[in-house]
Amino acid sequence: MSTLLVTHPCCLEHDTGPAFPERPDRVRVVERTFESEIFQLLQREYAPELDYDALTRVHPEQYVEQIHKAVPAEGYFELADDVVMSPGTWEALSHSVGGTVVAVDDVMRRRCKNAFIAMRPPGHHAETARAMGFCFFNLAAIAARRAQSAHGAERVAIVDFDVHHGNGTQEIFWSDKSVLYASTHQFPLYPGTGAADERGAHDNIVNAPLAENAGSRVFREAMTEKILPRVRAFSPDLIVISAGFDAHRFDPIGGLHLEVADFTWITNELMEIAERTAKGAVVSVLEGGYDLIALSRCASAHVQTLMGA
Ligand code: ZN
Repeated sequence: MSTLLVTHPCCLEHDTGPAFPERPDRVRVVERTFESEIFQLLQREYAPELDYDALTRVHPEQYVEQIHKAVPAEGYFELADDVVMSPGTWEALSHSVGGTVVAVDDVMRRRCKNAFIAMRPPGHHAETARAMGFCFFNLAAIAARRAQSAHGAERVAIVDFDVHHGNGTQEIFWSDKSVLYASTHQFPLYPGTGAADERGAHDNIVNAPLAENAGSRVFREAMTEKILPRVRAFSPDLIVISAGFDAHRFDPIGGLHLEVADFTWITNELMEIAERTAKGAVVSVLEGGYDLIALSRCASAHVQTLMGA
């Protein structure tokens, strides 16, 4: 079985203005990377429009309407700090939700082994009813709830190696013992959450904060000692990866100084756990990553690993 790559050109139409780090070129370079011959065995799908039911299992209707209505007819609209909208934003959001649903459906129905959603804007800072930090809709959360509501998954683990803490994912699942949220992230750093003592109402949140300049060894130790044993013990029916590549050493925002090989390593570790507990089911969602060269190299290594290449 192969790896599914989900994309849609409308992700380029979410225009965030000049000098904004979360920009269309991010998916442009990632898509170009996947044109290479090594990726010819990828199964590819264009993301359909949003699945309203899947979206409102995470975000209330009123919030979805608020986002939809805020989309400007022209120019830019700053909905919140670091949350910029343009006329193409709704289409990008709609297809990124649709793409997430397709990826989960195909993986859970065993039409593919695993999937990578190479879309934007990212999602892990989006809370139940709050857009922040470049994010509107929480795709990792939508993936987890979709697996549960449409495919009977009992337990879903979300592992987040973006340099930032996924405050949104943590908030959404704080009191939900059917979802384990586990994150490594630079701390302190935006958004300020993710201390080790934030553990969720059912001990279902695992935070492994890392100091600036932590590097490969410290990252792998934190994963090996704090996160992977918890994911293994949780015995998930699906592993969702919040795949942010802004922990790479080239990244202009993050300062964790990871290497491409670290992303290959963690992808392999998560696939091994998924193989044992979830018939290999992994759905990976692109989150951050703001150096274009590092982003394309990391995404390439991540997806080659998912492909078993
Ligand atoms: Zn990030």
